[in-house]
Amino acid sequence: MAHARGAPEPAANRRQAMCSRRAPRMLLLVHSAKQVVLVTNSGEKYVTGERMGRLVVWEEPGGISVAVDGDGKIAKVGKSSEVQSAYSHVKFDEVLDASNMCILPGFVDGHTHPIWSGDRVGEFEMKLAGATYLEIHEKGGGIFFTVDSTKERSDVELYTSLKHRLDMMAQSGTTLVECKSGYGLEKNEEMRLLKIIEGVKKECPIEISSTYCGAHAVPRNKSTEEATTSIIDDQIPELKNLIDSGALSVENIDVFCEEKVFDPDQSKRILQAGKDIGLRINFHGDELHPTKSAEMGASIGATAISHLEEISHDGIAAMAKTKSVAVILPTTAYVMKLKPPPVQQLIRAGVPVALGTDFNPNAYCLSMPIVMNLACVTLGMSMPEAFNAATINSAASLGRSATHGSIEEGKYGDLIILNAPRWEHIIYQLGNHHNLIYAVIKKGRVIHQKQCVSSIQY
Ligand SMILES: [Zn+2]
Repeated sequence: MAHARGAPEPAANRRQAMCSRRAPRMLLLVHSAKQVVLVTNSGEKYVTGERMGRLVVWEEPGGISVAVDGDGKIAKVGKSSEVQSAYSHVKFDEVLDASNMCILPGFVDGHTHPIWSGDRVGEFEMKLAGATYLEIHEKGGGIFFTVDSTKERSDVELYTSLKHRLDMMAQSGTTLVECKSGYGLEKNEEMRLLKIIEGVKKECPIEISSTYCGAHAVPRNKSTEEATTSIIDDQIPELKNLIDSGALSVENIDVFCEEKVFDPDQSKRILQAGKDIGLRINFHGDELHPTKSAEMGASIGATAISHLEEISHDGIAAMAKTKSVAVILPTTAYVMKLKPPPVQQLIRAGVPVALGTDFNPNAYCLSMPIVMNLACVTLGMSMPEAFNAATINSAASLGRSATHGSIEEGKYGDLIILNAPRWEHIIYQLGNHHNLIYAVIKKGRVIHQKQCVSSIQY
């Protein structure tokens, strides 16, 4: 056992050894937790409206335990005494003592751009001085700087930096992450980036939902219409071939629907072409200018639309009707000093609201706990709203909420053990999540664990 705390008594060890040949094996027992944040407890696929303001949190005087079976799925959540007696005959690969700690579901990061080279720290200063995204874009900076720099890097270099970023996300509690291509733009480069993401999937401790984002920007040598045609007639058929052959397992299609990038009609054609080959529609809309992206997305069955700082009233109503998930990105609004998206209007209208880091060279944040804090402080979300948005609703934005996003029997054992007596500390203690997170577990396996645990005085 990797963890000394909560080791079974020697007598129990002897009994277990005697019957180990016959004892069924399970991956993990986390026992004696003070609180378990289930998030949902009746199979909800997402939460909306007033329900977003409530979290299902379980507390018991004798503690609560979670058992994960041999397939990495949650077998039981219950009072510690009941779980102990139900599995007294079972040998667990790992046993963790969560006394005076909380068990949370792993976070689901609903929106990231993690594969690129060339940081843009220099532009940060320009932005602080007031330059807008489009001003930087028009000066040949911004995304084109990253596209050029990425193209110069080898597969191995991009693989290594991507894996490192995902490892850091895992240490911040993320266990499922959406990963976009989009710094290739041309067909061969976009497919290269998707193949590198595919390779990292096999090695990375956290799960990836891949997104093809060839329409992230218009290449400098093409008009928007030429780029649209190239994506629909050339890139998407190539993507289909690679998916059909098993070389790629891409799940989502994305477009940057924005003035001077792809307009709503071009975006709609691209997204529909992706949908026609089986991808979920999950795109950037209504960020810098009101373009009625939300109305367009809802009309073609978008699973999710990100940003929405400039969404219209009709767009909110359309998304509420189709239950398209609004993926809100507080880091971008914060770094770019954008008008905050109307989160409370979205929630009141019944739109499922999710959160993502939007990790990219323009908003360098790998941490969902920081995103939740920003969502609360800068966007007016309550802590339960932010937590629901960072778990069950962001899982819904990726079509994964049947298996991810809450601690329920049958779902994957994706867990965070928080060294705090109340779950709210993960949001309240801004930037201190690395000290608070004692362990991160993916499908019942410990993927990150602090070496020493000291009790923290609150
Ligand atoms: Zn983005």
